[in-house]
Formats: sequence, C-alpha cells, structure tokens
Amino acid sequence: MKGYYDIVGDGGSNVLEQVDAQQQSLDRSLAEVQNVLAIGSGKGGVGKSTMTMQLACALREMGYAVSILDADLNGPCQSRLAGLRDQMLIPGDNGASVPTTRNGIGVVSMGTLIPEPSTLDFESVAPGSTHTWRATKEFTILRELLAGTDWGKLDFLLVDLPPGVERFVQYAELLGPSAVFVLVTIPSDMSKGVVARSIEALGRTSNTVLGYIENMDGYYCVDCGQVKPLFPVRSSVELNLPQLGSVPFDPELAAQCDDGHVLADTSLSASWNLVQRTALEICERITELASCEETR
Ligand SMILES: [Zn+2]
Repeated sequence: MKGYYDIVGDGGSNVLEQVDAQQQSLDRSLAEVQNVLAIGSGKGGVGKSTMTMQLACALREMGYAVSILDADLNGPCQSRLAGLRDQMLIPGDNGASVPTTRNGIGVVSMGTLIPEPSTLDFESVAPGSTHTWRATKEFTILRELLAGTDWGKLDFLLVDLPPGVERFVQYAELLGPSAVFVLVTIPSDMSKGVVARSIEALGRTSNTVLGYIENMDGYYCVDCGQVKPLFPVRSSVELNLPQLGSVPFDPELAAQCDDGHVLADTSLSASWNLVQRTALEICERITELASCEETR
C-alpha cells in the first residue's frame, strides 16, 4: 500500500486546479468587501459568537454595511442570535442572497441551512474513516459558502470562527492575507493561555492580528449599575497584543442576544456602551492599518 508521503503532487486527482478555480470564484465574490474581520478565540465558551453579533450591531449603528459568516459549521449560533433560523438562502444571479436582520445585518450560517438538532456529517467513501475527510470537507464547505454567496458591497464581513487553535493557519489561508484577526478572551489564565497560543499560530501567517477583546470582564449588576468581579484573581498571562476593549457580562444584554433581538437603537447598559467603544477602536485601528499600507 502506498503511504501518504509516496503520493507525488496531487496524485493525478486534479484537485489543485479545482481548488484554484474555487479560490478564484471566492476572490470574485469578495471583490467588493472592504474588510474581512475574522473573530476567533482558540477556546470555546468565551462568548465569541455573541461578541461577533454585538460588534456587527455596533458597526451597523455607525452606518457601515456589515455581514456575518458563521464559520462554525456544526455549532452555528449566528442564525439564532440574528433571529433568522427560518430564513433560507435563496439562489440568485450572483450567488445566494443573504438573509438579513431587521437592522440590515446579513447572516450566512449553517443554522439557517440545517434545522436543529441535525448535524453535518463528513461522510467518507471508505467506512470508518470520516476523520481523513473532515478537514477537507469542512474547508470545501466554507469556501463554497464564501464563494457562492452574493455578499455585495460591504464595509465589513465578520467571520465567526469555531474554536480550535490548530485551524487558525487554515482560516488565514482561506480568507487571504488581507483578512484581519481579532481574538476574544475572558480574564482567566486558561483562556488567555489559549489566546497566547493563537497569537503564536497566527504569527506563521502574513495576516494582521489587530488585538484582543477581554470579554466577561466583570459582571454588570442591573440593580446597582456597578461592575463586580467575575473571576477571583486577575489573570497573570500577558498578551503581547493591543487590547481593543473590555466588556463586562450583562445578563440582560445576553438574554436579548439569545432571543435574536437586534441591538441597535436601544441604549441598553454600560456593557453595550463598551461594545460600541470596542467597535470604534477596531475601526480606528483598521484605518490606521490601511494608511500604513498606502505609505509602504
Ligand atoms: Zn448590585
């Protein structure tokens, strides 16, 4: 039997040309997208998906055209957060049209394509070997979602990445070198340690890591309006990356998000103000980045 390393090139499968063709249609579909912002954490459970939607709402409120691609194929949250679980993707001349929230945020998520509790399986031609196909199929689906969608003119495409430090390099390759990464953490050593690993992994790419957002930085008490500590001790892990913002956990804001309410035009809490401030910081840093590239 031939081993994997005995195969020369693509083994005559023509897969390189196919990937190249798909990559070209992806570039065409993203041609009018100004900024691709990939939001990841490396680790799950830090509120990254909710943060992605909140940032999208804040950017939308600032007048930007924003869409979200939920890259978490089997743990899609964005369709629920957007209140769009029953919205189908409708094919059009330039690709599928994007379902939008009431405040005009486009959302492409497996949550609208596959009803709960169904899952995608990565079925294989050889029984019992789905593991050998999973990554290939996962990125093929993502490439198809990106390329097959009519994104139109966008200021921001936010990509909600699933957990997994090992996949950062592949997401960077898929989204291209101009995609900018933002990392989300909570104030624990465990979460920050994984973010440190994520920074290291992304260091192998030519993509810019804009900074990190400290989520759940305290607990916002609705009764007294004060922020109380949520973690007993502050993390001792130093991240060599700018902090873009810090947002305390606000149960009311979280409940609104879970119910798929749109966050625009409601002043809400201090947490929402800090999300808005974070979005502004991201915009300023992206403008700075663009002007640096022009003068290069
Ligand atoms: Zn209180």
